[in-house]
Amino acid sequence: MKFTCDVRFKFIVLLHIFLCIPLLCQTALSLDPLHLNNKGVEEYDKGNFEEALKFLSEAYELSPDNEYVRKNLCNTLLALANEKAKLYQYNEAISLVDKVIKLDKNNFYAYLQGGAYSLNLGKISTAISYLENAIKLKPGYLDAHELLGEAYYREGDILSARVQWEYVLQIDPTRKELKEKYEKATREELVQKNFRKMYSSSRHFQITYPEDISFSTRSAVVTYLEQAYLEIGRKLGGIFPSSPVQVVLYDTSRFSAVVQLGQTIGGVYDGRIRISVSNKEGIEFSKDEIKRRIYHEYTHVAIFDYLKDRAPWWVNEGLAEFFSTELDSGKKLIVVEAVERKTLMDFCKLEEVKISEFLESQSKISLAYAQSHCAIHLLWRRYGQGKFLSFLRSIKDGLSPETGLQRVYNIDYEKLLKDVIEYASR
Ligand SMILES: [Zn+2]
Repeated sequence: MKFTCDVRFKFIVLLHIFLCIPLLCQTALSLDPLHLNNKGVEEYDKGNFEEALKFLSEAYELSPDNEYVRKNLCNTLLALANEKAKLYQYNEAISLVDKVIKLDKNNFYAYLQGGAYSLNLGKISTAISYLENAIKLKPGYLDAHELLGEAYYREGDILSARVQWEYVLQIDPTRKELKEKYEKATREELVQKNFRKMYSSSRHFQITYPEDISFSTRSAVVTYLEQAYLEIGRKLGGIFPSSPVQVVLYDTSRFSAVVQLGQTIGGVYDGRIRISVSNKEGIEFSKDEIKRRIYHEYTHVAIFDYLKDRAPWWVNEGLAEFFSTELDSGKKLIVVEAVERKTLMDFCKLEEVKISEFLESQSKISLAYAQSHCAIHLLWRRYGQGKFLSFLRSIKDGLSPETGLQRVYNIDYEKLLKDVIEYASR
């Protein structure tokens, strides 16, 4: 059995760590702006950035030439942007960052944060522009170089990405995640050096493929991707990622050489959709199988676009299965047999699954997927699309998946597990 799976990709968590640059006190202001400035600093120190912003904006209006007030105002706007980003409100965060750039066009942190937030939104060319400006202002600042590498990579420019990352790793070789990314990019560059880019009519996808993949498969891939974009986007209530999604096609052996997840995995989404479309001998898979893989991986693209890293594994994978394949009797049987063996998994544990840790045990992977698929099938079919979208919305709004489940469906994980068992036994 072939699995298509998701390697959850995390990037730029580091964006939340800068900031809290101490505010500057000042002594030479006239009374009103001085008072307002100091009130602003007081509120800032308490973490009340909205309040601080009110005082400092007023102080700035009264005294626009005062350097202290301007810097304090900028720092407050950046702190507020940081708060918005923690809540995944990246558009609001970016508009705050842009205000800072208007006040101070040489503000390094504004460009750095703007770059990080744009990356999170998938606005890659905007991110590159912010980050290139940041590096002009502070060449050698490692986080900026790492983020710029990420932006180049996501744009499909692996060589430029490697140059940035190599520089960072030379200076700080302890960045473990970056090292893994760098090594993967190096493998990718090697394996894909003779791959071609498909200049198709698709606005939503950029496809790279080895030259021995047939024209018929390539055009089927474009069709399925576009169908998935519309169908899944609509089913999820209108989720349509704005930037083109990078897609790389492989045969099985080149796919394994890049993703290194063993032979059981047929597709991943790690910021790019990667799927194998032919076996080692170059025999292409059936169109149905290719379509299944595309629908599965595209679901991850849409879910990531909507929920970023908040999607619980079982929801992400269950939906990807639900949109790409039938819940057949074989999958139900896996769940039923697990009940007898008492190996069913707690949904709590299925919120975070590292597929690389599962690779040893084929039956464990099968069960995790079957159980998640059953759960989503049940929720969607029994209670309908509207409720399911409310459930997703609750996760987006920051509720834990189980709390969302209770609020929308009035069931907890224990009850869900019972229902899944009953559902699979029918
Ligand atoms: Zn998956």
